[in-house]
Amino acid sequence: MTRCIRCQSGGARRPCPVLGGELCPSCCARDQRRRELTDGECAALEALQATAWPSLFEIQQVQVDTGLQLTDLATGDALFVRERSGTHQASKFDLLLAWVVQLGDHL
Ligand SMILES: [Zn+2]
Repeated sequence: MTRCIRCQSGGARRPCPVLGGELCPSCCARDQRRRELTDGECAALEALQATAWPSLFEIQQVQVDTGLQLTDLATGDALFVRERSGTHQASKFDLLLAWVVQLGDHL
């Protein structure tokens, strides 16, 4: 039985000329959906799937048009999140229920 070149399952039966091997139906469908996205959209989606986490955050400092210094109230961790529009109405000690994602070199 041929192994899927993506997930290594034994159910590969769809040739993929782009990748030069065979994919299982699940990986083939996922790749087809991704081909409809731009490179930036793909990078954002992959970052979300790999690094995003939800939590309750407390704003420690607002840098208008730059970002927010936050404390993750679930872990106590301090983090700086890049943000633009949200900084105009944010204030120190506001609480945010949000998802944070690592995108390139920043959150
Ligand atoms: Zn697969």
